[in-house]
Amino acid sequence: MNNKGLLIVFSGPSGVGKGTVLKEYLKKYPDTAFSVSATTRSPREGEVDGQHYYFMSRSDFDRLVENDGFLEHAEFAGNCYGTPRGPVEENLQKGIDVVLEIEVQGALQVKEKCPDALLIFVMPPSFEELRRRLFGRGTEDEATVNRRLSNAAREMGIAKSYDYIVINDSVDDAALQLESIVCAAKHSAKYLNEFIDEVEHDAETCC
Ligand code: ADP
Ligand code: 5GP
Repeated sequence: MNNKGLLIVFSGPSGVGKGTVLKEYLKKYPDTAFSVSATTRSPREGEVDGQHYYFMSRSDFDRLVENDGFLEHAEFAGNCYGTPRGPVEENLQKGIDVVLEIEVQGALQVKEKCPDALLIFVMPPSFEELRRRLFGRGTEDEATVNRRLSNAAREMGIAKSYDYIVINDSVDDAALQLESIVCAAKHSAKYLNEFIDEVEHDAETCC
């Protein structure tokens, strides 16, 4: 079909449930590569270097930026985050789908550089529910949560630039929405362009 993998960008406000929904999706589609980002943020309890993030100093992060090591990078709530370029490009070339879980500034950079990327934004069922989830997760202090909530309003203002919206009311429904969106994208005429050309070429040479 298509020899290149699909680049999936999964964004949404902090605490909306991106990680939770993706975990469900990846259980069903374990061949999809999750892009492990680099960050200058400190690890949360239970986070493993190289699995959840590559945790690094600001100077190491800046060096990677200078060496063009990131597909995109951005500052969010006082920390830097970036997508290592190499593994994304290698996986896509091998035909493996890659998912980036990133915030909106980075997503817009990806859209600019990779116009074929699929941009999906996750919305909460309500702002009040987002607040409940972010406080309920208990991983940040009150000031940090409030900072992330005020970022959320700005991020939701950019949601209309995305291709699709997932509404994370129940995790199962949201994972199903994600699955359906990816399936639709992989059956778009744009994505299957080369396949259509191949079959068309065979038809022309055979008759
Ligand atoms: P994000 O990755 O977007 O920052 P998380 O996946 O860490 O968000 O989820 C934030 C919190 O909300 C977690 O405590 C998670 O268990 C909870 N959560 C996620 N999705 C739902 C849902 N659909 N309903 C209720 N709680 C949810
Ligand atoms: P957290 O600190 O909660 O893990 O992440 C904060 C925000 O940074 C989330 O919205 C998350 O999606 C985003 N993020 C994680 N990795 C990257 C990345 O590589 N690039 C960008 N631009 N954002 C990222």
